[in-house]
Formats: sequence, C-alpha cells, structure tokens
Amino acid sequence: MMAGLVGFRPPGYDRLPISIPLRPDGRETAVNSQVRESDPTVRALLIDINGTIFDHGIAIEGAREAVNLLRDRGYALRFLTNTESKTVEATLESLSACGLEVDREELFTPVVAARTLLEGFPSACVLSLMSDELRQSLAAAQPEQESGPTHVVVGDCQDVLDYPLLNRAFRAVRAGAELIALQRGALYRTPQGEEFIDTGAIVAALEYGTGRTARLLGKPSSEYFGLAATSTGFAPGQTAVVGDDATTDSAGGNSIGATTIQVRTGKYAAQAAAGLAKGAAHTVDSIADVPGLLAGAA
Ligand SMILES: [Mg+2]
Repeated sequence: MMAGLVGFRPPGYDRLPISIPLRPDGRETAVNSQVRESDPTVRALLIDINGTIFDHGIAIEGAREAVNLLRDRGYALRFLTNTESKTVEATLESLSACGLEVDREELFTPVVAARTLLEGFPSACVLSLMSDELRQSLAAAQPEQESGPTHVVVGDCQDVLDYPLLNRAFRAVRAGAELIALQRGALYRTPQGEEFIDTGAIVAALEYGTGRTARLLGKPSSEYFGLAATSTGFAPGQTAVVGDDATTDSAGGNSIGATTIQVRTGKYAAQAAAGLAKGAAHTVDSIADVPGLLAGAA
C-alpha cells in the first residue's frame, strides 16, 4: 500500500525539493551526462540494499517487481551498501539469490567509492588495510608500492592486520598520506551473538595515534552519496535516495540535496521507537511503493 507523503523538511535545510517532480521520459536520458543541474527532475535512484531490497537474506515483498518497473521507466539505478567486507561479486551473488539481477556497474559499495576516488589521483600509491580479496579490487586501479604511500585505505582487515601493518599505516599518515575509512562501525555481532571489533575502531586507533581525521567513504558521508550520484551521470539534486535507515540513508541523501524516501522496512521500526526515523522528504511502506510515489508526482 502507498503510504501518505510526509513532506518533512529538516530544520535548517533549504535545498530539499518539496515534492518529487516529473519522472524521466526514457532510458536515453539516463546516459546523458550533459544534464542541466538546475533541472530538479528525479532521474536516478540510489537504493539501499539491506533492509530495503532484502532483509536477513529474504527479498522484501514486491522489491524485484518495483526495481524492474523503475528500470523499465528509464531511471538510472545504483544499489548501495555499507558492507566493505564483501567483494562486488559476492554482493551481486547475494542479490541474485534473492531473484534480483543487478549489473556490476549498478552496485555502489565503499570499495567502489574508494576506487572511484583514487582513479582521480593517477600517481596515487595506496597502502591498504584490507583483506587480500578486497585489496585486489583497489589494486586494479592503484598498484601498491613498497614505500611512500599517498593514501592509506582502511576496510575489513581482520585477516591481515598485525602490529607491523598498523604501524606502517600510522607512519604513512604521519608522513602525510591521506587516511581513508570505508566505514566507521565500532563492532559487529554474528547471528550467534559473538562480537568482533570492527573497521571503525581500527580507524579510530589510527586517528588517535596520528592526530588526523579520516576521510569517510561509506554511509552516511556526503562524499559517498555524492560519488554514487555522480556515477549515474546525473546531479545529486536529480537523484532520490531510498532507504530504511534515517541516520545513514536519509541523512546522507539530504546532505547532497537529493530527494529522500524512507521505507518502513528493515531498521525503520526500531528507529521509529527510538525517535530516529525522521528527516526524509517522503515515507512509504516499502520499496514496492516507490514506483507509485514517483509516478504520482509526475
Ligand atoms: Mg539499510
């Protein structure tokens, strides 16, 4: 069912569209990079995966049909996740297992964001605190060298981290390398309840030791959402962010001037109970309502 439009505008924020404008006319517009930034029409959708497309490995009802409809209507799509412990291939397989076929270029993870950013630095030399599998995703663009890193990238490093590597990263940042964090989670918990120290805590150790602040390339950083929006070929103001987490999806979307759509699946109930589920321009029951919301505004 379509939920009512909330039309909420966060205090102090004046760039949010009041309503969602016309839908695009056709797919050819999705690849037109010469778009006018002043055109506020939503052309691209940045759709959160966990809690929005599927939950605990099970597809949200109507998600696949909604995504297919949006694709047919010509929207450029990006699927977003903050997971930096999985390769792009592994995440694509998880989506496929839920019946959702996503193109490789449509998946936008913190690793993809880092690769996109580093492609802008042709002479970059990257020291990665990441699993070998993930490091190769970056190394394809930026071969690692033995000395003089210009960037230190911290992601899921539980398989490779030891004191010498940590100290090498520390010294590189002290010597001027930029510290990049793929996410800031302090800990994670397995379904069995076992807890592990997470990437954000390693980043915090490096920040504390060096006195520098990491550049975050995961949610809710505006840079992550900005890179995801830019990857569609459209301006941030022509994108809509769809997600279940107000503190990451809606906050990040608002920070780049995108239209924000909150779904009432995934984390919504817990955040609503805690008074956190606010800030989105629109709220719907689930991803299944998004095509109707956009068409209704046309
Ligand atoms: Mg989510």
